[in-house]
Amino acid sequence: MIRANDIIDKVAEYYPAADFDIIRKAYAYSAYAHRNQVRLSGEPYMIHPIEVANILADMKMDVSSIAAGLLHDTLEDDPMTSIEDLSLRFGDEITALVEGLTKISKIKFKSSREHQAENYRKMILAMVKDIRVLLIKLADRIHNMRTMEFQKPARQIAIAQETLDIYAPLANRLGISWMKQELEDSSLRYLQPAVYRELKEKVAQKELESRDFISKIIKIVQRNLTHNHIEAQVSGRLKHFYSIYRKMVRRDIAFEQIYDIVAFRILVADKAECYNVLGIIHTLWRPLPSRFKDFISVPKANMYQSLHTTVIGPDGRYAEFQIRTFEMHQIAELGIAAHWHYKEGYQLDDHDRKQMDWLRQMIEWQQDVDNPGEFLDSVKIDLFSEAVYVFTPTGEVKELPNGSTPIDMAYSIHSKVGDQCTGAKVNGKLVPLRYQLKNGEMVEIITSNRQHPNKDWLAFVKTSKARTKIRQWVKKEEERRSIELGRELCEKAFSRAKLSFNQALKTGKMQAVAAEFSLKHAEALLAAVGRGKISARQVINRIYPELRKPAKSKDKDDDKKRSSRPARDGISIKDIDDVMVRFAKCCNPLPGDDVVGFITRGRGLTIHRRNCRHVDKSNSERYMDVSWNLEQTTAHRVKIRVMCEDVKGMLVSLSTAISTEEANIASASLKTTIDQKAVCFFEVQVRDLEHLKRVKLALRAVKGVYQVTRVS
Ligand code: MN
Repeated sequence: MIRANDIIDKVAEYYPAADFDIIRKAYAYSAYAHRNQVRLSGEPYMIHPIEVANILADMKMDVSSIAAGLLHDTLEDDPMTSIEDLSLRFGDEITALVEGLTKISKIKFKSSREHQAENYRKMILAMVKDIRVLLIKLADRIHNMRTMEFQKPARQIAIAQETLDIYAPLANRLGISWMKQELEDSSLRYLQPAVYRELKEKVAQKELESRDFISKIIKIVQRNLTHNHIEAQVSGRLKHFYSIYRKMVRRDIAFEQIYDIVAFRILVADKAECYNVLGIIHTLWRPLPSRFKDFISVPKANMYQSLHTTVIGPDGRYAEFQIRTFEMHQIAELGIAAHWHYKEGYQLDDHDRKQMDWLRQMIEWQQDVDNPGEFLDSVKIDLFSEAVYVFTPTGEVKELPNGSTPIDMAYSIHSKVGDQCTGAKVNGKLVPLRYQLKNGEMVEIITSNRQHPNKDWLAFVKTSKARTKIRQWVKKEEERRSIELGRELCEKAFSRAKLSFNQALKTGKMQAVAAEFSLKHAEALLAAVGRGKISARQVINRIYPELRKPAKSKDKDDDKKRSSRPARDGISIKDIDDVMVRFAKCCNPLPGDDVVGFITRGRGLTIHRRNCRHVDKSNSERYMDVSWNLEQTTAHRVKIRVMCEDVKGMLVSLSTAISTEEANIASASLKTTIDQKAVCFFEVQVRDLEHLKRVKLALRAVKGVYQVTRVS
């Protein structure tokens, strides 16, 4: 068993001035916290944190990382250990590392599907504020995989799959090739035991067979390099299991058909020599042009640099060469971890933090050769918004834009879940619907089939799916209300005319009128009535043209009756219940206009715009304060003058602009003036001032229009 002193000796080799006391203290603390635990192997639990710290020392990590490696399971396993306790004893830096590790270990990985795995990886990266947390986590996983034989078979498979899907790719992204290879190989051992055993045997056999081939090549290379005065370290080996296995699966070939199973590595002093060596190899044997890769001039995003080439060696056997400097080799083996080397008294300062952010970005951006789509995904996240990763109660990870709310989450599950979302629980606690989700949270959506989307949700949702679905619903709801209102208006108008609305509906008469207005069905006609585009009277006139004349006088009578009701046509009058209201023809007031009421004896109240020139200020006792009741407005007529170019089709363009804003045109006229200009007059029905503004804007947008004004 390794002891504290073994680790200290190791650290002393690469960092003699280190604070060894903190390592001793962490060791003692961890031993005490885990004193009652045993591993599945029956050994004391402490072996695990020591081995993790030992791996970190082999990686030449800083003292804080090694101490955190010793302490990494204390917070989770020992009820007596608290964050406060740790930071009192070991300071904030080490405590933050342990806390980060504890957070990751609490994530429950359930799904192993490929698209989910990528989300898990991103989630971990988003959660890790200090990249050392990830390195310690990988060391932890390495040791767990090395000792997995004691786990139950089901656990072995689950852990191995998780390692293959999540941790090996992370090791690759960090550029730590030895970790990536070991994690892949040990995963294969548990996921495909038969394949693994067979491969192990065959590789051992191949190694034996290749021994002569390997030493022959090394000899030839060494001789030629010495001849050219190049000092180099040359080695040859068989590739690791998982990469052989992947090649077999990907190309669907047998082990025997893989020719480039042997890889040689040549390490030299500097970059120029790398290219010299490459030239020498290429004069010795014929290269396969498609297999040459220059990762020195174009390094991989994980900082990997090397020249790769495959040649047809002696006896026609393929041999792959990796040529790099000693320094590049260290980065290839240690990746990000190389960053901590030789940094005495290493402290995470602002510069390093920036580097960490840069690194995080690089990791995000890294192009995975196996899956080019992944690269695009990463870029997407980076460009549009930072993402947040949350869990569903079944353990699926959802990726949402930053600032997303439970409503966004609900819609990302299913539109129906979104439509019926009444609330949410985050990590078991109720939160408001506008709550902003955070990384790693478990979100449970609460629904009710009586719930409906709400216009107000638009103010805080982040995803376009939620936005679209809410808008769709609001539109549909408006349609439904228009139909309801249209039906009510028709029913009233019919009964006033002593006619049966239901009969008109049943006998298809409504449908026929709808067709006359080029509407698809009776409901659309009702909606049009509800929106004030068509009046109920118009509908009756179409069905019973014979009633037209007498109805006219009746209509007037009707108008009077209607006007005498309070709050009619959207006007509220203070203190007076029963008064006739009409709108002045001189200024055509619109809901939203500043208005006054003028009392005319025997004619009730006339509503004028306050700035109308007919408003007589000297007669103030005859004026009443009135205001708009904007919820009950109906259509109002207003005159608009449009100055424009006199071109063909102008009137059509203008009419189209008006009707796209859902305003009815009561009349239109056009006068041409000299020099190719025209003046159009429209009488348009609008709901209120806001509506008029939109109509005016639409008219202004028509090509050739100079000026749009409302005429009093
Ligand atoms: Mn552990």
